[in-house]
Amino acid sequence: MVERLAILSVHTSPLAVLGGKKTGGMNVYIRELARQLGRLGILVDIYTRRVSSEQPVVDMTLGENVRVIHVVAGPIQLLDPDQVYSYLSQFTAGVIAFTTKNPIEYDLIYSHYWLSGWVANKLKEVWNIPFVHMFHTLGHMKQRIATSTAYLPDVRIAVETQIVNWADRIIAATQAEQAQLLWLYRTDRRKIVVIPPGVDLKRFHPLPKDQAKRQIGVDENNHLLLFVGRIEPLKAVDTILEAVALIHQYHPNLCVGIIGGNPKNPADAELNRLQMLAQSLCIDGIVNFLGAKDHNLLPLYYAAASIVIVPSDYESFGMVALEAMASGTPVIASEVGGLAFLVRDEETGFLVPARDPSALANGIRTILTQPEKRKELGENAVALAHQYTWSGITQQLVTVFNDVVQNHKRFTRRKH
Ligand code: UDP
Repeated sequence: MVERLAILSVHTSPLAVLGGKKTGGMNVYIRELARQLGRLGILVDIYTRRVSSEQPVVDMTLGENVRVIHVVAGPIQLLDPDQVYSYLSQFTAGVIAFTTKNPIEYDLIYSHYWLSGWVANKLKEVWNIPFVHMFHTLGHMKQRIATSTAYLPDVRIAVETQIVNWADRIIAATQAEQAQLLWLYRTDRRKIVVIPPGVDLKRFHPLPKDQAKRQIGVDENNHLLLFVGRIEPLKAVDTILEAVALIHQYHPNLCVGIIGGNPKNPADAELNRLQMLAQSLCIDGIVNFLGAKDHNLLPLYYAAASIVIVPSDYESFGMVALEAMASGTPVIASEVGGLAFLVRDEETGFLVPARDPSALANGIRTILTQPEKRKELGENAVALAHQYTWSGITQQLVTVFNDVVQNHKRFTRRKH
């Protein structure tokens, strides 16, 4: 049985502000899961790289039985994930130093993203315990759409290919990720378990639309089209702007909210590009770049929206789509990765080809002009989201964890 779990989240902290360049679904996943595990009485330590001198070595604010441990590895400042690679040995040494000074024996490691998988393998050797890994995104998939020259695909893919051999079990968020692991990384099928992330139904549930609109300052006669997420090219926010440019003259009561990023930061190249695109498409009067919003405020925005749009080029899962569905709002998503499994076409929203503004515009028009359809999609979405409760998902993970720990014990006993 798992009683003490070490979670590795080297490059980003579950305590980080969401909606930044590199803070999104994985941060929410680790935060929510750790809280659930803590409530079950499992001691959870989350190791993450220290990025600010204000961070204490140990932070206990996340929840009962949960500690976030900040490990010094490289400069104490935010770094791009690829830059963190050079400091992984130092990070591993820092974790070992912490557990030597504050003795604790873990039953299992649960690592997140390729950088943590590398560290997990080293710790597995030192501690002689198994590790379970979740990738969140895969280098092979990112490489297919990468535009950044600063990207390190060769190293990343090489490490990921080793992680699928090193890890005792791999958690895939959807069948799409399972297929990618099988075909692109030749992962042993028996190692993969599909367990999706969850959604907090206490936070995300339907609210009266008019009231929500009033609270966030949207005119009750207007239709809000909403995007929520990190502002980076692969989120394809430009497709929303292009689609809106095609239809706004037929729908004078349309407005668009883009949540994420920092519109006041002149150095945010992607946000600046999107703002200029909105201007050049002559829709800047109806598009509001709202910046990152606290997770606790999002239920109001989802409830106020007529449609939530997730037009990404790639998405291993798509938590925003799930949160919107739990809030009773139809979702139009691109038919890629996890989104293709999460959103049911014509049932909880629409799936459209990625980077196809006219298909997106058609979907938007259909939902806006058919209130009955909109209602039906929203109701179905709520029902579907109820299959993703955190408590149910945590139980599934605990079953896997216990299985891995038991197998490891049996195996080590046989060896001695
Ligand atoms: N998020 C947030 N505030 C923001 C932007 C995003 O709380 O301003 C949260 C959002 O609610 C979701 C997560 O960040 O839980 C994004 O997860 P998703 O899987 O959609 O995208 P990822 O970041 O993993 O690419």
